[in-house]
Amino acid sequence: MVKPICVTCGTQFEESAAPPDRCPICEDERQFVGFDGQQWTTFEDLRGHHQVDIALQERSLTSFNIEPHFAIGQRAFLLQTSEGNILWDCLSMFDEATADHIRRRGGLHYICISHPHYYTSMVEWSRAFGNAPIYLHRDDAEWVMRRSPAIEFWSGETKRLLSGVKLVRCGGHFPGGTVLYWPTGAEGKGVLLSGDIIQVTPDRRHVGFMWSYPNWVPLGPQAAKRVAATVAPYNFDRIYGAFPKLTIAHGAKQAISESLKRHLHAMSE
Ligand SMILES: [Zn+2]
Ligand SMILES: [Zn+2]
Repeated sequence: MVKPICVTCGTQFEESAAPPDRCPICEDERQFVGFDGQQWTTFEDLRGHHQVDIALQERSLTSFNIEPHFAIGQRAFLLQTSEGNILWDCLSMFDEATADHIRRRGGLHYICISHPHYYTSMVEWSRAFGNAPIYLHRDDAEWVMRRSPAIEFWSGETKRLLSGVKLVRCGGHFPGGTVLYWPTGAEGKGVLLSGDIIQVTPDRRHVGFMWSYPNWVPLGPQAAKRVAATVAPYNFDRIYGAFPKLTIAHGAKQAISESLKRHLHAMSE
């Protein structure tokens, strides 16, 4: 029996005698089937060939990403608050050093994931940390490939977690696409952890609003406006995007409004 992990998107599937023929997440237009066809690995095999890079981003916030690069290549974050710890987004594997790092800081109270591309091996993470509840937006429930009693679907527009930290549904890339708002981050100026929902671009001064990132399909004007309007009421100065080093360190609110302006301009040309 194996619990296969898709090599292209990093999603772990239910235990079975043999891997499935296809990965629905990769066959969806927001991803792609790998150039050499559908391939699978396992959590154990990944552990043999990869490690997790751990980087302190600011006080109380650490990032994790798999090295060498695997699948989509996103980072996950450990956010420590006075009331407990949150894992934001997720990875296909973790090693002992990662588990030690998290346990030494008090374990995980919640696992919260922006959208289905980062569901990855969420159930393995939950089990390793006392069956920590996994909060996923109900509107994306069809994309869960490995079920678990730890998964709790939430509905609506916001969900309060700990110490003022909040999940905010923006939609766009996925109907349940969620960002995490951390009001005391960035020295009290506020932080968004945005996954692919508000994508920090390589210049680290703008964001992109896309429906499919790998296949370059932008969000339409109404959806892009809705994403920007959803986060507009919150105070924040910094955004940590999905990928290593893609962080807007300051002026993130301005970056979103300028990026929306140019997005709408490009679409109206
Ligand atoms: Zn896949
Ligand atoms: Zn995505």
